[in-house]
Amino acid sequence: MHDSTHSDPMRILVVEDEPAIQRGLCDVLAYHGHTPTAASTGEEGLREGSTGQYDLVLLDIMLPGKSGFEVCEELRALWPRLPILMLTARGAEEDVVRGFRCGSDDYVTKPFSIAELMARVDALLRRAGRTERAAPDPPFEIGGVRVEPERRIAIHEEGEIELSRRELELLSLLARERGRIVSRRTLLQEVWGFDRPDRLETRTVDMHIAKLRKKLGPARDAIETVRGEGYRLAG
Ligand code: CA
Repeated sequence: MHDSTHSDPMRILVVEDEPAIQRGLCDVLAYHGHTPTAASTGEEGLREGSTGQYDLVLLDIMLPGKSGFEVCEELRALWPRLPILMLTARGAEEDVVRGFRCGSDDYVTKPFSIAELMARVDALLRRAGRTERAAPDPPFEIGGVRVEPERRIAIHEEGEIELSRRELELLSLLARERGRIVSRRTLLQEVWGFDRPDRLETRTVDMHIAKLRKKLGPARDAIETVRGEGYRLAG
């Protein structure tokens, strides 16, 4: 099996102010066949990332100038589908939560192993590649709200709401399984590409669902929480 996302070198932006970590990350990425570019401040990262030349961004949180959260939010607004991986400190759960809120796709906790980092990077790249290639689902409706996967929007009386790649994937999966319970584990495996989801990641599903409900406005109740089991889209 040949996967082009793996043989093509990926352009990866590394936004990290600690020289040793920055160098280490770039070395590892280059060793794995990617093309890393380093940025040492939030502003520099934002400037580089804004160019749209990158396949993925590794983003530290504590940076001189703009924080990783700000950079993430601004990059996400510019490039809704750009994979962003946050580098968080051990024990800083709130950073993970905030990172997801700012639009990051995933995170690794410092200090991380190279194997763990590369697994996350590969999963995100694979995910992004698959999304680009796969034909989008046909439009569908939930609770009077029309979802157009191809345009990545939900349309209701308040107008057109843009959906992130992740939100659309979540919604599409629930819609395909309409009326059936989809576990958080399944969502994490299918939408995030996580093999062995942990407790913290489970919370990220809940956060994305909360965001999604907000965006769905009048159709928010169509996504039912099934306590202890997962989520279900009303049939
Ligand atoms: Ca830092």
